[in-house]
Amino acid sequence: MSDAIKVRFAPSPTGFLHVGNVRTALINWLYAHKTGGTFLLRIDDTDKERSEARFEDAIKEDLQWLGLTWDETMRQSDRFARYEEAKQELIANGRLYPCYETADELEVRRKLQVSRGKPPVYDRAALKLTDAEKAAFEAEGRTPHYRFLLNDEDVVWQDLIRGEVKFGGQFASDPVLIRADGVPLFTFSTVVDDHDTGITHVIRGEDHVSNSAVQVQIFEALGYNIPQFAHMALLVMKEGKLSKRSGGGDIRSLREKAVFPLAVNSLLAKMGTSDAIELAEDMASLAEAFDFGKMGRAAANYDEEELLRLNTKLLHDLPLSEVKDKLEIEIDEDFWQQVRANLHSLAEVKDWWELVHQPITPVIEDAEYGRIAAECLPEGEWNEQSWQEFTNAVKDKTGRKGKELFMPLRLALTARTDGPELPKVFTLLGREKARKRLLGEAA
Ligand code: GLU
Repeated sequence: MSDAIKVRFAPSPTGFLHVGNVRTALINWLYAHKTGGTFLLRIDDTDKERSEARFEDAIKEDLQWLGLTWDETMRQSDRFARYEEAKQELIANGRLYPCYETADELEVRRKLQVSRGKPPVYDRAALKLTDAEKAAFEAEGRTPHYRFLLNDEDVVWQDLIRGEVKFGGQFASDPVLIRADGVPLFTFSTVVDDHDTGITHVIRGEDHVSNSAVQVQIFEALGYNIPQFAHMALLVMKEGKLSKRSGGGDIRSLREKAVFPLAVNSLLAKMGTSDAIELAEDMASLAEAFDFGKMGRAAANYDEEELLRLNTKLLHDLPLSEVKDKLEIEIDEDFWQQVRANLHSLAEVKDWWELVHQPITPVIEDAEYGRIAAECLPEGEWNEQSWQEFTNAVKDKTGRKGKELFMPLRLALTARTDGPELPKVFTLLGREKARKRLLGEAA
């Protein structure tokens, strides 16, 4: 048997990618690239109501944008016949059994158990049904869902991130693997696919630990090899757990902000690891440095500010030729040299350009203050210190300080209450434009 490594990223096409699932994709990709292995992209679309082709397209597009290219791809919805075959095998082995309870009936039973102080575990009543009873249910029009008969042995594995994981089986309900409409659930289809595609390492979030425990038993029941598991600590951001719906951290919005893929990958690869978070030279160096042993068990904090910091760093060293096609506007070399060190993302270039090169209508609340300020504009060639010189002079002349001093200047010079750092804008504007704006003239 070859010992080539094969991993997979298996998103459900029910939403756009966010940094949480991109991290899973990235770690799989890095491991494959570090080891010369294969990276499979599997689209988990057995749930027809929730899966949409547009999400599948978007997922692929975002992964490509990030540079997380795959060697193979497949779709679970193409494999229903194969799942049926595996289902029959489990039935024949006595590990999958039909159940006819409705959701309401199960709920009543559950409440009864809880009121008696018992754990709300499925009581396996369906295991005792006779053929006649089953036939009676079917005659009523009920179709069965199928549960997997767990054995009550502990499930233990050496997790590549969490170390030994031990899962006591006694108090778990036999999981449903096939819904009453015949659709196999992910717990089951994943095992069949991981086996058929030769996956050697299952790398995913720690929210899957209990699924893994069940899946180990399914692998065994089908006589399949059990892959190695690596469960990554979850990613959290200020608002709490990341999800497809919570907003924030979605790849689309990072793309809109023109953040560079390498900044995203650098952060996601290093977050929650013992390595320092810094901008990587390229994807190959990220792969080279990858090691499960560096991944911590504590939740990793995602902070978009940190991402923007890495992105800024990346921007600072780039020549105009490398960003030209990504800009919505045309700028010259001189302007690029001036602003790039101030940028958090490429999208801000347009902002700077418009502020400096397009006429604005200044906002003037106190014309006299503007007039005095205009008189304080430094003479001669302006440099990085000119702003300081200017505001000191205005302060001396008017006695104003803090917000009272600065806000009217900002409003006059930019017509906005916030935006790029004034000292730099000021230097770029130059004396003549600044004078006009302080006097309330469109310039
Ligand atoms: N489709 C599953 C999910 O998105 C895959 C989990 C797995 O990696 O096995 O949660």
